Amino acid sequence: MTRRTKIVATVGPASESPDALEALIRAGVDVFRLNLSHGTLEEHLERVVDIRAAADRVGRAVGVLADLPGPKVRCAPFPDGGVMLETLAVVELAAGSAGSDQRRIEIEYPSLLSDIRMDDYVILGDGAITLRVLQVAPVVRAVVETGGRVQGRPGAHLHSERLRLETPTAEDLVLARAMAAADVDFLAVSFVRAAADLRRVREVVGDWRGGIVAKIETAPAVAALNELVEEADAIMVARGDLGIECPMEDVPHLQKQIVRRCVESGVPVITATQMLESMITAPAPTRAEVSDVANAVFDGTDAVMLSGETAIGADPIRVVRTMARITERAERESAYRQWANRLGRVQRSLSSVATDNDRITFAITHAAQQAAVDIGASAILCCTRSGNTARAMARFRPEARLIGLSPNLGTVRSMTLSWGVEPLQVDVYRSIDDLVWFAVERSVGSGAVKHGELVVVLAGEPRRGTGGATDVLRVVRVT
Ligand code: PEP
Repeated sequence: MTRRTKIVATVGPASESPDALEALIRAGVDVFRLNLSHGTLEEHLERVVDIRAAADRVGRAVGVLADLPGPKVRCAPFPDGGVMLETLAVVELAAGSAGSDQRRIEIEYPSLLSDIRMDDYVILGDGAITLRVLQVAPVVRAVVETGGRVQGRPGAHLHSERLRLETPTAEDLVLARAMAAADVDFLAVSFVRAAADLRRVREVVGDWRGGIVAKIETAPAVAALNELVEEADAIMVARGDLGIECPMEDVPHLQKQIVRRCVESGVPVITATQMLESMITAPAPTRAEVSDVANAVFDGTDAVMLSGETAIGADPIRVVRTMARITERAERESAYRQWANRLGRVQRSLSSVATDNDRITFAITHAAQQAAVDIGASAILCCTRSGNTARAMARFRPEARLIGLSPNLGTVRSMTLSWGVEPLQVDVYRSIDDLVWFAVERSVGSGAVKHGELVVVLAGEPRRGTGGATDVLRVVRVT
């Protein structure tokens, strides 16, 4: 069986060697994530080259997603070896960067005193340590509600609605420009609150052809979901920070709501964070983690993401293989047919606001879905210059294999994130007849379709009257 849900794996010390990257691709990674919150720009640029080389050795399209740090506030350094913050201890909080200790924590955020309020939570590190503000004047004091060991310069999470920090930051824009110049496929923007935040990144990357990913991890982003889905090329449900910014019990419901909205719009969506967290150290996941991954598949997510599990984990290859097994099993139980039916209803209700091109693309992909079911097609071949036809087709979550073919390598890589799409590069074509021929031949060559099978082919011709929309549907018996 061919897995339909894509796997995004974060690269880090445990996975960055050329051999490890190659082994991870063979184990099933579709997209590598570079977390720019850690390491230097030079190191990340080197990783891009290594990933491209590993993908070439394996002979498979692999995407690269560069995740911008965003406005991360940190504590001033704790003494070497760290300190223990005991539950119920009272600590002083101050703006500064000189140093922190057990009694006084300095936070590198100059307007701390004016922005913080009574009963605000300040969360340190990955969420394990929680402080609650007891007093704001003349000094800020907080009680340690959940204690633990702190070391280095842990992140200090203050409520983003209070923070007067801009996203993207000036550093994000510098990194975005450099990673776009290195031709990564996706740039993820952290702590977005509105579509304008994504447009600021788009402005600095010029004519870079990659996709911008909006990380949904703040309450304002949840409220602005519709405009973010309109503006973004992909969405990430960044459950770590989302569960700090919003009540954590809201996270599963927000996940379902965000995934559904994205699938309807044909915008790829990644479900991220702590999916197989225990495998950072353990050889097998908890049963709750297995269920979480399967439930993300049932929600209809395009991709599932691994963070620390592959960046610093004990056995990244085992993690990816485990993720692949869980998703493949869950796909066998998924009610994908219901997506096609639901989408038909949703789209009819939106048809008055859609553009002509959207309506044509919807009609032809809807027809392809139905034709594939009626004739028992083994595959739907989407010939696409931008990847849009393949993404529009993936919305229906078809049972037939979904092959995305493009002469443009960037487009081929952009399809690595989309549910079910098997990206292939084809030669440049001159006519629709050529294109259909090349697409079928290339799909046979790759082993995706076999002689004697029926396939549905979708294509568009930019010079024709429909202005670039996908407007050709053919049924071909592979001979
Ligand atoms: C998250 O918060 O879930 C997330 C993916 O963001 P990051 O790991 O970049 O903080």
